[in-house]
Amino acid sequence: MKCSEFLQELTNYLDGVLDARTKAELEDHLAWCHNCYVVCDTTKKTIEIYRDSQLYELPDDLRTRLRTAIMSKCKQKKAEQSS
Ligand SMILES: [Zn+2]
Repeated sequence: MKCSEFLQELTNYLDGVLDARTKAELEDHLAWCHNCYVVCDTTKKTIEIYRDSQLYELPDDLRTRLRTAIMSKCKQKKAEQSS
């Protein structure tokens, strides 16, 4: 699984709506990819904050913005690594 694939499934993973096979693939990715692990952890905490403020369901536009922010962060990290 590539980082981009991981990030695409991340919100589903955190929502617990993935099938067992995809979930196992994501967990496998987390085990070796520190970058995605950090992104996953940060996103999980962000979602918990929203849940604490009683917005249990993440609005779609927030999901999209979150994902866009994560993707650009990931690309930025890659650019830093390759320079
Ligand atoms: Zn990754």
